[in-house]
Amino acid sequence: MHGVTRIAVDDLLAGIRAGDRTAIGRALTLVESTHAEHREEAQELLARLPAASESTRRVGISGLPGAGKSTLIDALGSWLVEREHRVAVLAIDPSSTRTGGSILGDKTRMQRLAQDERAFVRPTASAGSLGGVARRTRESMRVLEAAGHDVLLVETVGVGQSEAAVAGMVDAFLVLLTAGAGDELQGIKRGVLELADLVAINKADEDRARAERARRDFAAALRLLHAAGERQRAGVLLLSARTGEGVPELWAALEEHRRLLLESGALESRRREQRRAWFWDELLAGAREALLADPRIAALLPELEAKVEAGEEPPERAAQRLLAAFRSA
Ligand code: GDP
Repeated sequence: MHGVTRIAVDDLLAGIRAGDRTAIGRALTLVESTHAEHREEAQELLARLPAASESTRRVGISGLPGAGKSTLIDALGSWLVEREHRVAVLAIDPSSTRTGGSILGDKTRMQRLAQDERAFVRPTASAGSLGGVARRTRESMRVLEAAGHDVLLVETVGVGQSEAAVAGMVDAFLVLLTAGAGDELQGIKRGVLELADLVAINKADEDRARAERARRDFAAALRLLHAAGERQRAGVLLLSARTGEGVPELWAALEEHRRLLLESGALESRRREQRRAWFWDELLAGAREALLADPRIAALLPELEAKVEAGEEPPERAAQRLLAAFRSA
């Protein structure tokens, strides 16, 4: 590690500890960068951050587009900063169509919170592979925690794998739904509900009776889903992100969930397991990168791939031939 880098990291660390917004922004840009030199600096920075504290709340918020996630994050985040919490918001959207204009996009999506000095809203990271975005998001969370944010809200946009990625990096995973609109399951995959620690039916202000029916239906569905249940069953709440009704109750439910996790030691074991999974993600991503960057592989790959496509070479044998070339260094 050369001197300039060391000084840059020292500066960043001091800035982060002081809660300096420019330094936090620079640190986040650094961890998001895929540039090799930046990766080295980012690793140095992460290694020197204070250990993560169990007192921070890491909450994932998921739901289909239009469910009201940004409205909720704005309402909940604003409510929390009024209660002395320091809130940071991150979003995972690997298939983002909001890239490019995302800074403006997120600022307008969470207007109150984005303008509040007590909160830090990080615009959606630009599109990339889910694995890459997820790995960097975990690092961003560490930076934001070190900067004194005690509530991290991680929003996920999508209906599949990104939910699992986010659920794997938070203490509590909230699934936001809306009542009615025909199909009660609204394309929300069963797998996503299985990840939920808490479910909220949003837009209850529109039709209270319908929202209440949806609440009962989902509570019943979740009872079935968790019947085998090694996991604690998710509760279902009614909410109006627009009016703020139900926001204090939502926070109380999250705090209750957290209390139970702390009491049983499950918070610690969940976070241990998440760190282990993170390590394996890094290891396997690194192995993949090393493989694909290898000149021997690059020399053999196109021909073998073409043969596999043409059905002239069995896929497994082709893969083994490449791996043998990789090993024979
Ligand atoms: P996202 O795509 O999940 O982030 O959803 P948004 O927060 O952008 O909300 C989508 C639309 O639903 C916007 O027009 C919001 O104003 C509206 N909306 C969000 N929450 C509520 C709510 O509690 N009640 C009503 N009536 N509308 C809401």
